[in-house]
Amino acid sequence: MTKTAVITGITGQDGAYLSALLLEKGYRVVGVVRRSSHEGIAAHRMRWLGIADKVKLVDGNLADLSCLIRIMQDAQPDEVYNLAAQSFVAASWNQPLLTAQITGTGALNVLESLRIAAPKARFYQASSSEMFGKVQEAVQSETTPFYPRSPYAAAKVFAHWSTVNYRESFGIHASSGILFNHESPLRGLEFVTRKVTDGAVQIKLGKARELRLGNIDAKRDWGHARDYVRAMWLMLQQDEPGDYVVATGRTTSVREMCRIAFEHLGLNADEHIVIDPAFYRPADVEILLGNPQKARTNLNWHPEIGLEEMIREMVDADLKRHRA
Ligand code: NDP
Ligand code: GDP
Repeated sequence: MTKTAVITGITGQDGAYLSALLLEKGYRVVGVVRRSSHEGIAAHRMRWLGIADKVKLVDGNLADLSCLIRIMQDAQPDEVYNLAAQSFVAASWNQPLLTAQITGTGALNVLESLRIAAPKARFYQASSSEMFGKVQEAVQSETTPFYPRSPYAAAKVFAHWSTVNYRESFGIHASSGILFNHESPLRGLEFVTRKVTDGAVQIKLGKARELRLGNIDAKRDWGHARDYVRAMWLMLQQDEPGDYVVATGRTTSVREMCRIAFEHLGLNADEHIVIDPAFYRPADVEILLGNPQKARTNLNWHPEIGLEEMIREMVDADLKRHRA
């Protein structure tokens, strides 16, 4: 029997890769898209993956519970993946209330719509390593206490505990993936990896001379989005719902990531990077490093794409885009 999945945030990086994975597995994919006057732009990532005409897109917004209930009633999903969010940490200080409303309460709206209109559906919440923030343990696992350092992270903590609460209160098969940073050629340009790969390419092509960055001593546990959406799907295939850290177990500085990207183009990063305090954050997360042991053991999940390979793939994709 064909399974149906509803994905919020389908137009984002993870939404595109998850759609591709689920289509490959024979799912009917219904994606929630917020209305915009910019026609045709919404599906650009799905077009890049060649799947834009294979998913059904429906109008909806995480701020509007009524439309989410209607979407669940119409789609009768087997699985619901809540990926929608105001997902950029830096923007969350400028739009804290919107971030709370979409990233935090928005997740609760999706859970409510499920409870009311599709209580048998399995639910995935896109939790984040940013919840660990000012880390309380050197290596973070499912049991590490949270210490959110931004309005974004605080909103994600609310959504995370709402997911746990709906599982415990209503018996909903609700799982939460505490995903560490994951990137790809479809990552938004404002995030540091993509800003660096795109910026290095512009320098290589003579379109720019420098790349302005903030705290390049920050360290992240970076993986590839294609690997990470597989973990999301695996969580919903388990008999029991749960919370899972999804990470590589390796942490790298922004500085080192820059070196990898520039070197792939035959450039020296040190000659082009300019530190610009405009990109410093009111409070930063200095280091993240995850322990994915539970995902390895329970889900048999292993990341397949390493950092160097991923950065090179991103640089090559940006090179192709700029040349086109
Ligand atoms: P993106 O920023 O690429 O995508 C976010 C998605 O949310 C977009 O489709 C966006 O739509 C949608 N969205 C934003 N506001 C609303 C709204 N009000 N109503 C409906 N949809 C909305 O994020 P990623 O794909 O990278 O991440 C997916 C999820 O995983 C997010 O929740 C993110 O916070 C979380 N996460 C991501 C990590 C990462 O490293 N990528 C790490 C840990 C968690 P539009 O296209 O219209 O803007
Ligand atoms: P985040 O972990 O979700 O905040 O992902 P980002 O890719 O936005 O940022 C990762 C780290 O890179 C953070 O510690 C930032 O402070 C640091 N960083 C340094 N310079 C920049 C920059 O110019 N842009 C962004 N987005 N991050 C930067």
